[in-house]
Amino acid sequence: MGILALQGAVREHALALADLGVETLEVRTPAQLDRVDGLVLPGGESTAMSRLLKIFAMVEPLREAVAAGLPMYGSCAGMILLASEVLDTRADAVNFGAIDITVRRNAFGRQIDSFETALPCVGMPDGPFPAVFIRAPWVERCGPDVEVLAAVEIEGVLRPVAVRQGTAVATSFHPEMGHDRRFHQLFLEIVGAAR
Ligand code: GLN
Repeated sequence: MGILALQGAVREHALALADLGVETLEVRTPAQLDRVDGLVLPGGESTAMSRLLKIFAMVEPLREAVAAGLPMYGSCAGMILLASEVLDTRADAVNFGAIDITVRRNAFGRQIDSFETALPCVGMPDGPFPAVFIRAPWVERCGPDVEVLAAVEIEGVLRPVAVRQGTAVATSFHPEMGHDRRFHQLFLEIVGAAR
């Protein structure tokens, strides 16, 4: 399993996957990307990651990997990178369209910067997920092939915060920050099925 390791919560995802017995490879080059059967895009800062993706010549290889159906899981900034459209970002930021969603960066910022909540999630019958949000995006539009796995209600409007389309999954929150491994487990199942 690869973790995009240009910036952000790389180590936390590596530890979360190690809990599940999975070896990880830090991915910074096209050659490393070629070696993995799934890729985690961690939380961090999507505009900084965009700049680094260009410097490391990773933009086209990642577009090709998305087109080839490489399973990808993005948390927070990673969700922004996987989206097809991003609001409130820099004009030169990149995104890969692995999931047909429009996300708004730092969307909760106007309400509350960071918070934790017990989040009921589709396909997770063992109770709500302890979800940590840190300057998180939310989803403002979902395409017809997008499955919403979880949403939070903000001022009477349900905002999706966990979505899946095919082999791509994204969460606004940071499962790598806590000890609940169910989202990493879900991604491992997707990677296993895609093999
Ligand atoms: N606000 C950040 C961004 O725009 C994401 C925050 C995070 O990943 N915790 O990339």
